[in-house]
Amino acid sequence: MTTPLLQDKNCWIFDMDGTLTLAVHDFDAIRNELELPAGRPILEALAALPEPEAAPRHQRLNAIERELAQQAQAAPGAAELLQHLSGRGCRLGILTRNNRQNIEVTLEATGLARHFRPETRISRDCARPKPHPDGVYRLLTYWQGMPARAVLVGDHLHDLLTAKAAGITSVYVDPQEAYPFQDQADIHFASLTTLLQALQD
Ligand SMILES: [Mg+2]
Repeated sequence: MTTPLLQDKNCWIFDMDGTLTLAVHDFDAIRNELELPAGRPILEALAALPEPEAAPRHQRLNAIERELAQQAQAAPGAAELLQHLSGRGCRLGILTRNNRQNIEVTLEATGLARHFRPETRISRDCARPKPHPDGVYRLLTYWQGMPARAVLVGDHLHDLLTAKAAGITSVYVDPQEAYPFQDQADIHFASLTTLLQALQD
């Protein structure tokens, strides 16, 4: 496979959970546990609640996510892809709807920490959550990068919509190879391994 779309990209932004890591988050189960309405994104559902109802749910969400972060495993090909991109002189960043502490826990558990400078780890604690493009703008500003040479790699519709809103290229990774959001993606791969192979061709 040739990937002219990706060859000149030098700013690589990665979703964390389910993209750099093996997917384990069952968002429907989390919504159930937090007694949130089905089908609505969790952070937005929490933001719509009055503070006395939202606060304990935020605490519970943080605890659930923390436990998952401690068990995180790197996705196949993640370390190799990041190493390859670093070798090409690319900037690397994370943009997640998870919180700051869980980025650190996840990077520690997966052994991927060395690839991301602290300033390039963007969580819901320092930017409006995806699909708002705020986090992309922060990273591009920090890197002095150009949108035309930036890419966001993710496994969820949020990631693809974020890339579109920010005017950057989206790479959709779906290990299930079902690609339900394919119409929103610029290019898709079954894994980070096949993405890396495409870059090396
Ligand atoms: Mg994800």
